[in-house]
Amino acid sequence: MATTRIENAVVWTGIPAAGGYVESDALAFDERGILAVGDAARGLDADVAIDAGGAFVCSAFRDGHVHPIAGGFEHQLAPVGDQRTVQGIAAAVGRWAVEHPEAEWVRGEGFDLALAPGGIFRAEWLDAVVPDRPVVLRASDYHTVWVNSETLKRVGYTDRTPQPHDGEIVRDEAGHPVGTLREWGAWRPVYDRMPAMTTRQALAALDHASTTLAASGLAWVQDAWVEPHDVDSWLAAVAAGVFRLRADLGLWCDPNTWHGQLAHFSATRDRVGVEAAHRLTAGTVKFFADGVIESGTGAMLEPYCDCPHSKGLANWEPDELNAAVAAVDALGFAPHIHAIGDAAVRTALDAIEFAAVVNGPKTRRPTIAHAQLVDDLDLRRFAELGVIANFEPYWAMHDSYQDELTAPRLGPARTGRQYMMRTIRDTGAVISFGSDWPVSTCAPLAGIQVAVTRQATDGSGRGPWMPEERLTVEQALLAYTSGVAFQAGDGRGGVIRPGSRADVVLLERDPRRVRPLEIEGIEVLGTWCDGDRVHGG
Ligand SMILES: [Zn+2]
Repeated sequence: MATTRIENAVVWTGIPAAGGYVESDALAFDERGILAVGDAARGLDADVAIDAGGAFVCSAFRDGHVHPIAGGFEHQLAPVGDQRTVQGIAAAVGRWAVEHPEAEWVRGEGFDLALAPGGIFRAEWLDAVVPDRPVVLRASDYHTVWVNSETLKRVGYTDRTPQPHDGEIVRDEAGHPVGTLREWGAWRPVYDRMPAMTTRQALAALDHASTTLAASGLAWVQDAWVEPHDVDSWLAAVAAGVFRLRADLGLWCDPNTWHGQLAHFSATRDRVGVEAAHRLTAGTVKFFADGVIESGTGAMLEPYCDCPHSKGLANWEPDELNAAVAAVDALGFAPHIHAIGDAAVRTALDAIEFAAVVNGPKTRRPTIAHAQLVDDLDLRRFAELGVIANFEPYWAMHDSYQDELTAPRLGPARTGRQYMMRTIRDTGAVISFGSDWPVSTCAPLAGIQVAVTRQATDGSGRGPWMPEERLTVEQALLAYTSGVAFQAGDGRGGVIRPGSRADVVLLERDPRRVRPLEIEGIEVLGTWCDGDRVHGG
């Protein structure tokens, strides 16, 4: 049992004290937990002693909403995420196809949806580089897919194909599918035809994810979209020792088949508990209440400005969502509901309220993820109903998604009231942070920087946007540590005190003492998960 002692540090415990938070200068821990803080820690024998030279220590970060398999898989596919033009994407796809003649399908993930007007991408742009194999590219919003003509042919999408009720096959004036598919109702038939990820690919993805997340200072993550084959991948990665952090699996609830999924959810929770309890839990059920505003699929109380007949796309009938959330709540799962538009947020809050009424009082950790637009009447309901507001702080800035795809759809009044982290926190609600990686960077320090500046990180100098919603560095640290630990129901996590989990991050500088626009540049020197060093050293 190896004991680690860190001395000569600024130890920020995350425990409130008069006028701030308890601080110390040393701590000691092993895999059972934090053993001691301050003088008591200095007095303990240690196998590893680290002189931190004044560096900053706090509880390791936690990501309350992330997609590790997808994030780790991206680098095995055509590299479209860094391209700045449509031509650049096509060229990258063409090169990858030539280098991978064995690949039956050409795939890419994470392209920038703002590169084509209205987020509409055409099949012929890809046909020019890969005419004979299917090409499937998913945008970084993870709600929009761009395909070539061969793919449209394989799934049989024609002028006569009816629109799915839970998605949109984007068409031109003549009614012909152009190559852009919105929401899984439209692109699931494509993904169903692709060869499944092999075990080898999945292990490589989770190996890459584990390394990347640990290097960002993370020790625990909420996988926010797990399908049955992903459970096998997770268990294989833990058995093989390639995933070295801890995670909770958010089991995806299908609006069309959820009744039949309930028994499987419980069986999965049991199986994970038997096979991988030291690293994994499966205590969460994931719902998508709507899509995203950039694609016009976020569910709104009032119509979109650029499309006055549309209020977006609600994925669930309210009564059905009530019943499903109550059912998983009765089984002891925590609902984790993606809700972006103000109508979706209200429907999600209503469902959580309904579950509490029908199932009666008990300890619950319901989460609403993203909460991009919240109606005034609903702002206090997070605190009143005990709903955790999970924000992705990196999105709260002027970027192309916000300025080019979102603002024109929302109009100025709604544009000026998004991601109201400060307001919702001030009502007394618990807020937790996440990245939605690979939608955006998984680095919590980048998220903290935006949370405290609401300023663009691209050097464009845009912003601050809605500066009244900025948080302090300490509030942002809490949202990435104890806020997510609360969401996870981990009573030993998110703080540094004797007996708490030995999840620790060592940062080169104190994020409270650098200029706000330098926070994301702070180096992560070390990360420990349950006392095991998973990064640095
Ligand atoms: Zn997500």
